[in-house]
Amino acid sequence: MEFDTIAAISTPMGEGAIAIVRLSGDEAVAITDKLFRAPSGKPLSEMASHTIHYGHLVDPKTGSVAEEVMVSLMKAPKTFTREDVVEINCHGGLVSVNRVLELALRSGARLAEPGEFTKRAFLNGRIDLSQAEAVIDLIRAKTDRAMDVALGQMEGRLSRLIGSLRQALIETLAQVEVNIDYPEYDDVEEMTLPVLVEKCTWVKSEIDQLIRTSGQGKILREGLSTAIIGRPNVGKSSLLNSLLQENKAIVTDIAGTTRDIIEEYVNVRGVPLKLVDTAGIRETEDIVERIGVERSRKVLKEADLILLVLNSSEGLSEEDMRLFEAVRGMDVIIVANKTDLPRMVDFDEIRKQAPGAPLVTTSLLQDEGVDELEEAIASMFFGGHTGSQDMTYVSNARHVSLLHNARQAVEDAIVAAESGVPVDMVQIDVTRAWEILGEIVGDTLQDSLINQLFSQFCLGK
Ligand code: GDP
Ligand code: ZN
Repeated sequence: MEFDTIAAISTPMGEGAIAIVRLSGDEAVAITDKLFRAPSGKPLSEMASHTIHYGHLVDPKTGSVAEEVMVSLMKAPKTFTREDVVEINCHGGLVSVNRVLELALRSGARLAEPGEFTKRAFLNGRIDLSQAEAVIDLIRAKTDRAMDVALGQMEGRLSRLIGSLRQALIETLAQVEVNIDYPEYDDVEEMTLPVLVEKCTWVKSEIDQLIRTSGQGKILREGLSTAIIGRPNVGKSSLLNSLLQENKAIVTDIAGTTRDIIEEYVNVRGVPLKLVDTAGIRETEDIVERIGVERSRKVLKEADLILLVLNSSEGLSEEDMRLFEAVRGMDVIIVANKTDLPRMVDFDEIRKQAPGAPLVTTSLLQDEGVDELEEAIASMFFGGHTGSQDMTYVSNARHVSLLHNARQAVEDAIVAAESGVPVDMVQIDVTRAWEILGEIVGDTLQDSLINQLFSQFCLGK
């Protein structure tokens, strides 16, 4: 494919000792050669690929030295975009990096749009769409665990799984074709349909399994929206503080990422908790009083997880009962706090009020029980396999919806095959399933949708 040469700053703005301006395209080397002077005098175009060179950038207009730089030369096709890529490493200051970018633009490069490097990698066949989308997830990952999932997807884990399902469907179609072409083999339908049903049933169960991971995938990707509720003075603020203290948010840094939303998330055993309405807890102590019953209902409804805090040194009050009522049917963990004081609350009564909800006892004053609470949170949403790194999660809403559609098409094929519909009708359903799965990896997707997907990226990626 033919593209112009693009350039962008690919490190976070402002900070860091080093900043990188990245160029990609046929002219990347020629453009850099207009600016770059190595001590040896040799141009980049004569240097070996995948090497780094010290030198200076010279403003071609004035002939004066503009920057001291290190230049990485990576020639196609072994690059992220599969095009020639040059990365100019310069001093990290804003002025310096902007000057380098400006020189590159003046010498013939075009400013890259957000996501354009990744888009090129996709359009040049270096990665498929689900891998490209994983780059967005990686940028936004809120915990190490979420990052692992995104990395797995970027390395093509989901792509390979989808590929094997599509392969099975194609083989089925091929089998049907062969049998139709050689009708001398007895009865075509009799031979073909059982095989088709068997293959499609397998594909359906694999899709089901993927869809089942989507709840967890979504949590890892977007965070678990969590509300801490309880009447005044039971220990909500104390709980919030100890969760915030013990769990540093986001850890890893990736070049080119902005992470302005870090503070909102708490990393609990790899599960990103998004604490809802923490300001309310801090400021007025009582979410219901502050924002009114209606809105607090709404906050509760939007929460994936409720931490209902009780004072275990007092009996259950009417207000506690109202809170039990308000959270019925939701995912709730009961936190019975102040266990350092003599216990007055009746645990059997709590279990009766919140059947099935995990009950954790804490003394936040003495820093006890928080580990158990975290364990309860992790196992509530990830069952036994919190630690598994090699699971394939689907987290992207686009993928989930396509999987549901593909599942329906496969099911249609099975039902049709079993009810004696002519085999070429069944083929249509199988083909449809194959196409829908193809949209996940971007095989069968329109340009407009592709543009929309890549516009979600940040600059320099
Ligand atoms: P909130 O109104 O629900 O946010 O409750 P706070 O977290 O502000 O705590 C209210 C009071 O209870 C404070 O004086 C805390 O120090 C105290 N407190 C919190 N947790 C415990 C605990 O586990 N044991 C005891 N004895 N006091 C606690
Ligand atoms: Zn408080």
